[in-house]
Amino acid sequence: MRLSRFFLPILRETPKEAEIVSHRLLLRAGMIRQESAGIYAFLPLGLRVLNKVCRIVREEQDRSGAIEMLMPTIQSAELWRESGRYDDYGKEMLRIKDRHEREMLYGPTNEEMVTEVFRAYVRSYKDLPLNLYHLQWKFRDEVRPRFGLMRGREFLMKDAYSFDLDYEGAKHAYNKMFVAYLRTFARLGLRAIPMVADTGPIGGNLSHEFIILAQTGESEVFCHRDYLDLPVPEAGVDFDDVAGIQAIVDRWTSHYAATSEKHDEAAFAAIPEADRVSARGIEVGHIFYFGTKYSAPMKAVVAHPDGSEKPVHMGSYGIGPTRLVAALIEASHDEAGIVWPEPVAPFRVGIANLKQGDAATDAAAGELYQALTVRGVEVLYHDLDERPGSKFATLDLIGVPWQILVGPKGLKEGKVELKRRSGGDRELLSPADVLERLA
Ligand code: ATP
Ligand code: MG
Ligand code: MG
Ligand code: MG
Repeated sequence: MRLSRFFLPILRETPKEAEIVSHRLLLRAGMIRQESAGIYAFLPLGLRVLNKVCRIVREEQDRSGAIEMLMPTIQSAELWRESGRYDDYGKEMLRIKDRHEREMLYGPTNEEMVTEVFRAYVRSYKDLPLNLYHLQWKFRDEVRPRFGLMRGREFLMKDAYSFDLDYEGAKHAYNKMFVAYLRTFARLGLRAIPMVADTGPIGGNLSHEFIILAQTGESEVFCHRDYLDLPVPEAGVDFDDVAGIQAIVDRWTSHYAATSEKHDEAAFAAIPEADRVSARGIEVGHIFYFGTKYSAPMKAVVAHPDGSEKPVHMGSYGIGPTRLVAALIEASHDEAGIVWPEPVAPFRVGIANLKQGDAATDAAAGELYQALTVRGVEVLYHDLDERPGSKFATLDLIGVPWQILVGPKGLKEGKVELKRRSGGDRELLSPADVLERLA
């Protein structure tokens, strides 16, 4: 992408309304635009990152055996009356009437709808287990939408729903998602710690929140230091190996880790002091097992091998990709701007032409751009007529992991400079070596 043909509305000033660094940088880097309180447009740069986050989320859901679908954002109030949640959900739910005065709502979550889909088609144990997921916008009329993408009113969620014959099956479904979540966050370059959690309005009795430690986090959390370097399961992990998956979950739940709602002072005090971590955290994912809470009232029943019919056992599993975009910035930034981990960077490589209009520099920068693009590398070529300092500032602000600085001085010796955004290391290399290194 040539910057001259891209849409990157960078803000030079720090927006006053933004209280935390991710919100400030999202606005300054031209990634998002607030349209109403807690409602944002994703500008092209922001969308590139969001799409990368979603892609990793999808790949790990698919790997674990979940199946993608897409349910609508608008739901019928009728469904929520069946589960009894229509009145319980309160003011966080945006209620709408259509032209026929039918009561509708903008979905804050999808347990009812997916249960309705399930009961329409599935009758027998032979069709289980099943895990259906989608990535869809949610609306929750939060009392205090704030911190930019961290607590929006309209936000993207990956929500998966598992269906099993009995508790044993549901436990395995839960464990599979637990492992998929460990892998998802690790691939995003984040260390998320599963913590015992309250089940809240979703209900149920088995639940973990996946929390990233960050000073700006809204949750108060307590855990054992060992969580900071426990190894994450490999891509080859066998999701059908019930005992193997259970062993991973056991390992990742063997130490103390809880949010303030579930905090147990005595248990925490039993940990050697040097191993106690008491910090703030961001909830980026949340998994629940809730059994027949929805299937029983909504009559989603399946025939067991013995012929009896019983409500299906369910769990639900959420990840917030839009919140993750903010959390990634909270976890990785410096004075100059965002420092994207490579897997989610909007562009992997940036090229700064340090003397736009100089024939030799234009040619060298243009050739590198061409060669990298042809090899499938995502490059942002800063080809505007700006001073070098301003180009460095832009590439650093938007966090491009690898930056190639092409200027007449270096070119005289046949060299360009390769700069690493993280750490700032610089190296003089020939354009051919740069290609070798990056492509
Ligand atoms: P919170 O405690 O932050 O209000 P929640 O517990 O209400 O979140 P869940 O119902 O567990 O959220 O939803 C699953 C995931 O959706 C959360 O773990 C989070 O990543 C994301 N999420 C929830 N609410 C928001 C929001 N207002 N803005 C952005 N992401 C959100
Ligand atoms: Mg909430
Ligand atoms: Mg929560
Ligand atoms: Mg939650």
